[in-house]
Amino acid sequence: MVSMARPFLADPEFVNKAAEGRVDEINTCIACNQACLDHTFSNQRASCLVNPRAAHETELQYLKKAAAKRVAVVGAGPAGLSAATVAASCGHDVSLFDSSDSVGGQFKIAMQIPGKEEFKETLRYFTKRLEVTGVKVHLGKRVTREELLAQGFDHIIVATGISPRTPRIEGIDHPKVMSYLDVLLHKKPVGKKVAIIGAGGIGFDVAEYLLHDPATPLPIPLSTWLGEWGIDLQAKQNGGLIKPEDAHPIRDIYLLQRKASKVGAGLGKTSGWVHRATLQRNKVHMLAGVDYQKIDDQGLHISVGGKTQVLDVDHIILCAGQESLTELMPTQANETGPRFHKIGGAALASELDAKRAIKEGAELAASL
Ligand SMILES: Cc1cc2nc3c(=O)[nH]c(=O)nc-3n(C[C@H](O)[C@H](O)[C@H](O)COP(=O)(O)OP(=O)(O)OC[C@H]3O[C@@H](n4cnc5c(N)ncnc54)[C@H](O)[C@@H]3O)c2cc1C
Ligand code: SF4
Repeated sequence: MVSMARPFLADPEFVNKAAEGRVDEINTCIACNQACLDHTFSNQRASCLVNPRAAHETELQYLKKAAAKRVAVVGAGPAGLSAATVAASCGHDVSLFDSSDSVGGQFKIAMQIPGKEEFKETLRYFTKRLEVTGVKVHLGKRVTREELLAQGFDHIIVATGISPRTPRIEGIDHPKVMSYLDVLLHKKPVGKKVAIIGAGGIGFDVAEYLLHDPATPLPIPLSTWLGEWGIDLQAKQNGGLIKPEDAHPIRDIYLLQRKASKVGAGLGKTSGWVHRATLQRNKVHMLAGVDYQKIDDQGLHISVGGKTQVLDVDHIILCAGQESLTELMPTQANETGPRFHKIGGAALASELDAKRAIKEGAELAASL
């Protein structure tokens, strides 16, 4: 017997697709817990990040529409991929545009974080879905509103995501300062002593990325993981637990937040403890209630509880929130011409995650 639970939330057609040899069409569970177990443990209806129809089958239906519309989707991140593939499966004529030369948006960055390697399966699934549903994909082109208007679309879905926010701190343009995109996307070299401004999900991810020794390929080998968590597979010890191996952090990291609440309090209900424990094990200094004063050659000047100190770090990495990219939206309501819609990060940057992005894309597309 083969037993699975979360994979059937991600794709109830799993077994049928496997039996028919359509394995590359299976929507894979990425083990995020975000819409299933996190919901269950906070008294919400369990669903699925990669399949927003899970447990909403009667409310969210992808039905063939009598009148096919011409639909443009700009942005091939999770929101745009979801909108484009659902709209096409409802019978619409869909064109998808992205300035990058591959689909995925920020998910391509997320999947480089240790433990998030499986996110690539979502992009494999959507890439296949684009092909199966016949979406016309235009990559490597940053489209303008004029170009879109010239093509006579009925609907234009703006799924252009976000740009990172730069906080106002004296010395913010100092050469020591980098954005998370400099680190994760542009692969700029990072020193041994680092301060991360912003302890949300991306701040935690950047810390874990910088703690990973590039000499160990990802995903980390099972034996390494068992040693890190002190798991005895032979179950010779009580509870199958042994003393975890000592960590040998390759960097000295400060993870800072303005809020006075516990660092990491906003992380996932069932997975946040894992991230906090990983950083604690690697002796990351997690500080809350931080007032940022200035950045100069000495480093980052902060005050915590009225006490000032200088963190003499090599680099300061900004993970201080995001702002919506909405340049394609009309500045005033248009009476004629295509209808514009915003989804995902383009609609709202705060508390953004792929769960909301994929759900909004699917719901809007199903309603066209
Ligand atoms: C390090 C990291 C880890 C993350 N981890 C998680 C996680 O564990 N769980 C989770 O749910 N979320 C996670 N996220 C967040 C998640 O990736 C985002 O919430 C999601 O990608 C937002 O989707 P989106 O489609 O709105 O925007 P984006 O993914 O930002 O996509 C927008 C796309 O629009 C394109 N674009 C913009 N303007 C134009 C234009 N004019 N013309 C053409 N193309 C354009 C861009 O190239 C981009 O591909 C993580 C993000 C990062 C950076
Ligand atoms: S929410 Fe995440 S972990 Fe849960 S079933 Fe969906 S993909 Fe899997």
